[in-house]
Amino acid sequence: MATHHTRMLIIGSGPAGLSAAIYGARAAMEPIVVQGLQPGGQLTITTDVENYPGFRDVVQGPWLMEEMQAQAEHVGTRMMWDTITDIDIAGGSPFRAVGDSGDEYIGETLVIATGAQAKWLGVPGEQELGGKGVSACATCDGFFYRGKKVAVIGGGNTAVEEALYLTNHSDDVTLIHRRDELRSERILQERVFGNDKISTLWNKTVERFIGDPLQGGLTALELNDTVTGEVSTFPVEGAFVAIGHAPATGLFKGKLEMDDSGYLTVEPGTPKTAIPGVFACGDVMDHTYRQAVTAAGTGCMAALDAERFLATLEFAKKEAREAAE
Ligand SMILES: Cc1cc2nc3c(=O)[nH]c(=O)nc-3n(C[C@H](O)[C@H](O)[C@H](O)COP(=O)(O)OP(=O)(O)OC[C@H]3O[C@@H](n4cnc5c(N)ncnc54)[C@H](O)[C@@H]3O)c2cc1C
Repeated sequence: MATHHTRMLIIGSGPAGLSAAIYGARAAMEPIVVQGLQPGGQLTITTDVENYPGFRDVVQGPWLMEEMQAQAEHVGTRMMWDTITDIDIAGGSPFRAVGDSGDEYIGETLVIATGAQAKWLGVPGEQELGGKGVSACATCDGFFYRGKKVAVIGGGNTAVEEALYLTNHSDDVTLIHRRDELRSERILQERVFGNDKISTLWNKTVERFIGDPLQGGLTALELNDTVTGEVSTFPVEGAFVAIGHAPATGLFKGKLEMDDSGYLTVEPGTPKTAIPGVFACGDVMDHTYRQAVTAAGTGCMAALDAERFLATLEFAKKEAREAAE
């Protein structure tokens, strides 16, 4: 078991963590990135990425993340195969984290980039047809379903926003909800009900995603009527599961401020948490945009603020030393 010291400890290796690492390394912060159970983050479980700036052609999610990691390492980042299981931040900088390996990480600044995971229904066919007709992100994948018949599953704000977004690409969007009314804000509901590209199916749960991942992908949904018990087949080429996201913040419960859904709270317009020297970036603090490019952007902000924090801290220490002499 070893102890690793760094000026910038980054938890998470998605676009937010790796962007923070690139900026931190270039500012001579010698960052350490603890990768967690999903090295590269959420983009490693998707295929086509068409909206990350800099690439004219479609790129593959796992490839994009390998490139980000290679760039981070090239400028001096140390990548650690470990998952943080305990953290001590209450006492201020330096912050101490313990990994699953038993190793200890001491960071003069701490960047939290642990991301979030889409919630899935957990029914047959969902995993197999992921990226082949089944998605959890209309902003990411809606474009691939231009002119096709699509469905959105859910009844909250996310589902309604996804359905509205999909009308940019499809004239045939069906919102499927297990209850007979939506939970989303009234204004969003009015936009849905007033949009003739969106129809609704009430009291229906999706029991199965039907299709062949190797031949054409998703073709239909098996639905169950929660009132009558009737089982039906609903033909569709794209299905967007929109039942919410779970931010990976269990580690920080009782240690950092969070909103009701568990997202870390930051000072508006910054990645600063309430504890000086601790920064949060990417999906772990953003339930609105949830994109690779926004995660990368806030990762950059976290690194720049971490560097400023350290500079101020070092200046204060120097002044205190001089005053004591
Ligand atoms: C199927 C799918 C397709 C998508 N397609 C697109 C797209 O086309 N374009 C787009 O812009 N966005 C897309 N997104 C969204 C995009 O992937 C996310 O917005 C982005 O990955 C968020 O980056 P992040 O760095 O904040 O977090 P994440 O990518 O979620 O990474 C979180 C990281 O934290 C690590 N971690 C968590 N807990 C710990 C711990 N305790 N210790 C150490 N490490 C930990 C994980 O291992 C992981 O490396 C897609 C998402 C999904 C799920």
